[in-house]
Amino acid sequence: MSCDFLSLAQPGVQKLSPYVPGKPVDELARELDLDPASIVKLASNENPLGPSPKALEAIRAELAELTRYPDGNGFELKSRLAERYSVQADQVTLGNGSNDILELVARAYLAPGLNAVFSAHAFAVYPIATQAVGAQGKVVPAQDYGHDLEAMLAAIDGNTRVVFIANPNNPTGTWFGPQALSDFLARVPQNVLVVLDEAYIEYAEGSELPDGLDYLAQHANLLVSRTFSKAYGLAALRVGYAISSAQIADVLNRVRQPFNVNSLALAAACAALEDIDYLARSRQVNDAGMAQLEAGCRALGLRWIPSKGNFLCIDFARDTTAINQALLRAGVIVRPVAGYGMPDYLRVSIGLPEENARFLAVLAQVLSA
Ligand SMILES: *Cc1c(COP(=O)(O)O)cnc(C)c1O
Repeated sequence: MSCDFLSLAQPGVQKLSPYVPGKPVDELARELDLDPASIVKLASNENPLGPSPKALEAIRAELAELTRYPDGNGFELKSRLAERYSVQADQVTLGNGSNDILELVARAYLAPGLNAVFSAHAFAVYPIATQAVGAQGKVVPAQDYGHDLEAMLAAIDGNTRVVFIANPNNPTGTWFGPQALSDFLARVPQNVLVVLDEAYIEYAEGSELPDGLDYLAQHANLLVSRTFSKAYGLAALRVGYAISSAQIADVLNRVRQPFNVNSLALAAACAALEDIDYLARSRQVNDAGMAQLEAGCRALGLRWIPSKGNFLCIDFARDTTAINQALLRAGVIVRPVAGYGMPDYLRVSIGLPEENARFLAVLAQVLSA
């Protein structure tokens, strides 16, 4: 008689649903017998430019050292991040993607009996990281799909140890401004760690979004997480980082895997950080693509949620399952967000001009069929 190993899992894990990623190009190609080269994937907020040539060069230079463990302290990357952002290197925590940072926070600060507060329609990893360690997720209803920071403050109780906020948020693209952030930080109890997830902040530079790093000096309970997966174009390598007080960084360092960031990722991230031109191009392509998608949606009579990310959540005012299926059959992969409580929306990542055009053309056909 075999045991039921689902019921043996800790209760938080039993209630979890696995993270659903965007459909990989090769998977759709296999399913529909399509040429992978004919498929457009706008489903995972990836950088459509391909990686920085400087990052590729750094990876090639590193290959001969693959027999060695990576630098477990990430000295070079931490130093460069510290210099770039005018912080101390001991305030930097490196992660296997910024996803890893979110898990480190949960492992270090959450446990059964404690809770984390986050918004409805927020990034799917917050509930996963929280429930995986047996803590409770307190989901706060959103306001116009964005974070209701007032309501999030009100949801904090004596057992709250972490608040996750994403600016801009994925999948909604919604954001809050500097005043809202400083009001929020001023009122969060000092023993509650605020994780400000800035995965898309590089796209918003110079806009009305606050730079979380500006608030670190006044708020010892703030941690800012960022990633090389989006604007820096290195999603496959899995590298992200947090900047916090040195004390919080020390705590996270105690629970992380000794070699959590691999040597190719470390080398590529150092090079990408210096490739100012690449980042500027990423932003240009994104701004132009956003305008292109918005104009296309307007022409089709569709509404969308205004976004500061590299993606757009489009409102179809009806269940999008059939529309998504039709897009897939035409070789266009976007992201259904029913799992985020948004069954009437599809999230579309900004691609190259020709990819955006292909999506809009196929969509027009699908909607008129
Ligand atoms: C993409 C994303 C991340 C993390 O991505 P990594 O690849 O793990 O660095 C974190 N937060 C949000 C809101 C994201 O959209």
